[in-house]
Amino acid sequence: MSNPKPEELVQIQYENPPKSWMEPAVEFRKGTFCYSALAKNLNYLGLPNPREWQPFNVDWKLPADWKRIILDGMKERLEKFRSFRLFMDICVRCGACADKCHFYIGSGDPKNMPVLRAELVRSVYRRYFTLTGRLFGSLAGARDLTEDVIKEWFYYFHQCTECRRCSVFCPYGIDTAEITMIVRELLNLIGCNINWVLEPAANCFRTGNHLGVQPHGFKDSVDFAVDELEELTGIRVDASINRKGAEVLLIVPSADYFGTPHYYTFLGYLALLHEVGVDYTFSAYASEGGNFGLFNSHEMIKRLNAKIYAEAQRLKVKWILGGECGHMWRVLHQYMDTMNGPADFLDVPVSPVTGTRFEHARSTKMVHICEFTADLIHNGKLHLDPSRNDRWNVTFHDSCNPARAMGLLEEPRYILRNVCNRFHEMPENTIREQTFCCGSGSGLGTDENFEMRMRGGLPRANAVKYVKEKHGVNLLACICAIDKATLPPLLEYWVPGVEVAGVHELVGNALVMRGEKERATDLRGEPLVVEEVAHA
Ligand code: SF4
Ligand code: SF4
Repeated sequence: MSNPKPEELVQIQYENPPKSWMEPAVEFRKGTFCYSALAKNLNYLGLPNPREWQPFNVDWKLPADWKRIILDGMKERLEKFRSFRLFMDICVRCGACADKCHFYIGSGDPKNMPVLRAELVRSVYRRYFTLTGRLFGSLAGARDLTEDVIKEWFYYFHQCTECRRCSVFCPYGIDTAEITMIVRELLNLIGCNINWVLEPAANCFRTGNHLGVQPHGFKDSVDFAVDELEELTGIRVDASINRKGAEVLLIVPSADYFGTPHYYTFLGYLALLHEVGVDYTFSAYASEGGNFGLFNSHEMIKRLNAKIYAEAQRLKVKWILGGECGHMWRVLHQYMDTMNGPADFLDVPVSPVTGTRFEHARSTKMVHICEFTADLIHNGKLHLDPSRNDRWNVTFHDSCNPARAMGLLEEPRYILRNVCNRFHEMPENTIREQTFCCGSGSGLGTDENFEMRMRGGLPRANAVKYVKEKHGVNLLACICAIDKATLPPLLEYWVPGVEVAGVHELVGNALVMRGEKERATDLRGEPLVVEEVAHA
């Protein structure tokens, strides 16, 4: 069966379904769910219940005592995470979050309303952990934990991208993403994981990055980029790997050196850091900034994050510079410090170019490349020619994690306004803290999940369509590796004619490097077309 066409998918039914929400049975319809994790990946990571199975099978081959495992796991997490217990208790069902989730907007399925998504687990909490639930059962909104409930959890908690948009609107600050994380962690205890999360995590253990690129492959990729940048600019940059004593460790998502359009962002980093003379090194072991542990369990977050700091210590760098990635920054800002920090063996980051001390990174010792570049521009350290980006009419997608989890709202915009002549914002309620997710984050960006991704990405694409039609926008800039992978197919589906780029690709285009040859092309190798642009 082929994928549905946009004109079919946009016919969304918002009516309530005939059956009660308490009825858990789910249909695993092709295009709306992710395949299960392969046994080899569970084995590699030492996770429970490795086996061959798929969500559409009747028998999920759960462990004999699966119910006890889940309820014990819930009890443990209710005691360990005060937020989880609070989120189970305080929702007043006001409905402020109901229409804020992109999956609800794109699917019309009430169980994709954040409030109802949380009720799927809250109802089990009531049944086994509250007196009213024990006494009054369904009258008190309580449900028994059955295999069908497990299947329902698997389906709907893999239709949440942990984007946290709903939490912005909740008057009680309930963070459904945190609930999703806990439920995925519970499912993990009985071996109900998706492959698109566990394969990258297993790869990261084996080779240091999600894509499974081995150290010599990593070196080849970096060398190739150095050669290509020389061809484009006439300048040979030095991009060292595993060099002890460098001042800065540069950590990027692996897609930056292995995928497009990410790779042009990577060229942008290399050009920029060479131009301002930063003494940096990559690590072939910490060759990944992303952290798919965020989509699996707290323990996995900790395990994957630790290698970055282990490498910083081994290489004796002073501080860490991080590239354009989404969940890497959420982990850094929200979890790293309590899990693996504070990183007292490193220095508070100071820009070697401007002398700016990044006090906000005093504990993690890690600075976002947009913060670093915005500071360079602010201090007049870069020679920029924005007309080199004149073929682009740009808008900016706030990637969920840098925007909502670290508040990185101004720096990318400041950079874009300095490196491009044409920049237009999407409507206010779709950007900054209220940004709409790409629809494929948190490990859901798989081919088999195509329909649900297109549905989830509809609100984002709709806002892009608006600025395309109003201002002629033809480029969506963003600072997340998952976005760069998943927005191109989304836009091709809903808004053909708009491309996707990283912010540092545009920086690399505009950057006039000392001693460069006359540039004939941009970093994509496309001819530079300087158009007559109203520089308003
Ligand atoms: S975190 Fe995002 S995907 Fe999950 S329920 Fe909230 S808005 Fe929807
Ligand atoms: S906005 Fe908050 S309190 Fe209101 S229904 Fe949603 S989660 Fe519950």
